[in-house]
Amino acid sequence: MASVQYYDTLIIGNGALGLFLAEELITRGSGTIAVAGPRGRETGASQAAGAMLGCFGEVTTETLRTEPARIKFEMSRAAHRLWPQVLRRLESDAPAGQPPLKVAESTHVVLNTCGSYLDSVNYAAMTDALTAYGEDVHEVDPGEIVGYHPRADQRALRALHLPGEGAVDARRLLAALEGRLERAGVTLADQNAEALVTVDDRVCGVRLANGVHMEAETVVVAGGARGASLLQTALTPSQLIPLFAGRGFALVTRRVSGTPFESVVRTPNRAFACGLHVVPLGGGREYLGATNSVAKEPLTSVPMTDVHFLTQCAMQQLDEEVTHHEVEQWLVGNRPVTLDGFPLIGWSALPGLYLLTGTYRDGLHCAPLLAANAANELQGKERLIDDLFTPVRRLIQTRTVEHSIEEYVQHCLAGWFESQAAPHGSTSWLATIYRQQATAFYDWLGIDYGLGPDLVAYALGSPHNAQEIRRSLRTHHGHSAPEPVGSARSGD
Ligand SMILES: Cc1cc2nc3c(=O)[nH]c(=O)nc-3n(C[C@H](O)[C@H](O)[C@H](O)COP(=O)(O)OP(=O)(O)OC[C@H]3O[C@@H](n4cnc5c(N)ncnc54)[C@H](O)[C@@H]3O)c2cc1C
Repeated sequence: MASVQYYDTLIIGNGALGLFLAEELITRGSGTIAVAGPRGRETGASQAAGAMLGCFGEVTTETLRTEPARIKFEMSRAAHRLWPQVLRRLESDAPAGQPPLKVAESTHVVLNTCGSYLDSVNYAAMTDALTAYGEDVHEVDPGEIVGYHPRADQRALRALHLPGEGAVDARRLLAALEGRLERAGVTLADQNAEALVTVDDRVCGVRLANGVHMEAETVVVAGGARGASLLQTALTPSQLIPLFAGRGFALVTRRVSGTPFESVVRTPNRAFACGLHVVPLGGGREYLGATNSVAKEPLTSVPMTDVHFLTQCAMQQLDEEVTHHEVEQWLVGNRPVTLDGFPLIGWSALPGLYLLTGTYRDGLHCAPLLAANAANELQGKERLIDDLFTPVRRLIQTRTVEHSIEEYVQHCLAGWFESQAAPHGSTSWLATIYRQQATAFYDWLGIDYGLGPDLVAYALGSPHNAQEIRRSLRTHHGHSAPEPVGSARSGD
């Protein structure tokens, strides 16, 4: 007979979200806790993240255009305020002699012409957002950014300094969280959960790959992009907003010549990337990131074209000396992205099951707040974030079809120019081709729902992908959402 282990809270997924939630619960002294997830974290997003702690650095024209996006932005600002105390707590608990987890104190956003008009409008959106929120706009001479030595023809003529927006070393952060959990007696199971176990429609545990059953009053799935397959063992398609994998490639490198970077240096956000960026990791090491392409399933490898794209962009747009960098680590991770682009945070349609996922590009930065919010909900206390992102919802709609088509065109143009694809065809000719592609897709789709540019690109990738998007939209758009059931230990 399979052995059974019992806990108060069982967290599936050992990325930033799962570990931060466990850490929040032990800090509150909330019962027995287990976290399950393979130690290697292959396919996980957190282990590959640049871990920029960015708010205004992430702003695009979409950020303050609609109410749901504004709510998400304010969530990110609230998360930002928690980081100093989070880092103090982790560092005070760590063994002596460890370097600080925070590796950069600020960010420079550079505006160059390697993409397209998209960068200009997103750069303007950042300065507008700073002004709207009463923050100073610090424009600086790009030539003064320490370490920034792009090729002459790819240099930026404008740059923005964001003093409070630094970065942590994601891999050391995960190790610090794990160390603190181990010392506190949390069970860390180096295992994959194969299925959710339900009794009378209540989720009460999981079956691990080694046959062990773990049972708990509350099961939290924080499995990132790979968590979708586990959720599908209990939730029906209509109970789960589809999750996709935004596969990203990045490098940890060691500088051998030239002046090291002292701050994060990045371009504005772009589809098919998260903005080109360098994060100084200390000790002569520099993180270079990152590509982004949406797939249905998480992947552990990357195509040569991503390797070529990232290394070429870093060597030309950030610092020509990057050519000589030694590569220490190749990182591949999958960002958890939902069909509507917003996270899934809260009780699921099944009692006993809480979801903590779908954070896409900035989940590591938001993790401490999302963990504190989840801990509150598990304890029957008040939410800390808006309930808009409850997993039991209709798709959040922020785009018309026409808006989605134009956004797709602009992102494709930026990607086309940045990848220095064959220099034929004018900008307007290229825009017409991309617009025709996207318009034909929406004509075929026949559903009045505007997708984000990454998902339009995914749908256009193959007839199978397009069918899948249509099936998902038919299931999740235009239907009434069921009520979230909830299952707080006290108060329900
Ligand atoms: C290249 C790249 C750069 C990024 N840069 C930034 C950045 O600068 N700033 C930022 O804030 N965010 C960044 N992100 C996004 C951020 O990493 C994610 O939003 C966030 O880390 C998601 O955390 P998570 O814990 O939900 O998922 P993950 O980190 O993916 O962790 C989930 C874990 O659960 C495990 N798991 C899944 N299924 C199971 C199962 N059935 N049983 C057991 N375990 C399971 C997986 O192995 C995985 O390790 C980046 C992402 C990538 C890929």
